[in-house]
Amino acid sequence: MDGCVFCKIANGSSPSHKIFEDKNTIAFLDIFPCAIGHTLVITKKHYKNMEDVPPQELAEAIKTVQLVGKACMKALGAPGFNVHQSNNKPAGQVVFHLHFHVVPRFENDGVSFKWQVSEKAKEQIPLVKEKMMKVLWKIFNKNQ
Ligand SMILES: [Zn+2]
Repeated sequence: MDGCVFCKIANGSSPSHKIFEDKNTIAFLDIFPCAIGHTLVITKKHYKNMEDVPPQELAEAIKTVQLVGKACMKALGAPGFNVHQSNNKPAGQVVFHLHFHVVPRFENDGVSFKWQVSEKAKEQIPLVKEKMMKVLWKIFNKNQ
């Protein structure tokens, strides 16, 4: 897609610190890392986010995420890692090309993805369960 920075990285017209590539995915180091080894995994094809990526290509991206996670533990000695992914602006998505952040984690590294329990959300669990299950089964059955 024209003007998409991740498409440019995927097609090689923009430089990147690429560390892995297979048929449909690429992994490269984030140039704005929040931790040592912070890596981005993208699909080579342009998909805005989880809403429109075909499940097969999503599965391939997740396999690459797993591979990068294992590699950052072995190569960097990270005892853990986070996987972070955002869909649309309210969720914090900035680049509108599907991507996963793989963030190696170390004890007391100062990186934080903490959130607080929402009492309002807690109260709505039964209602949300009902709403979500109706839609989930519709989507699931449509995809069969
Ligand atoms: Zn793109």
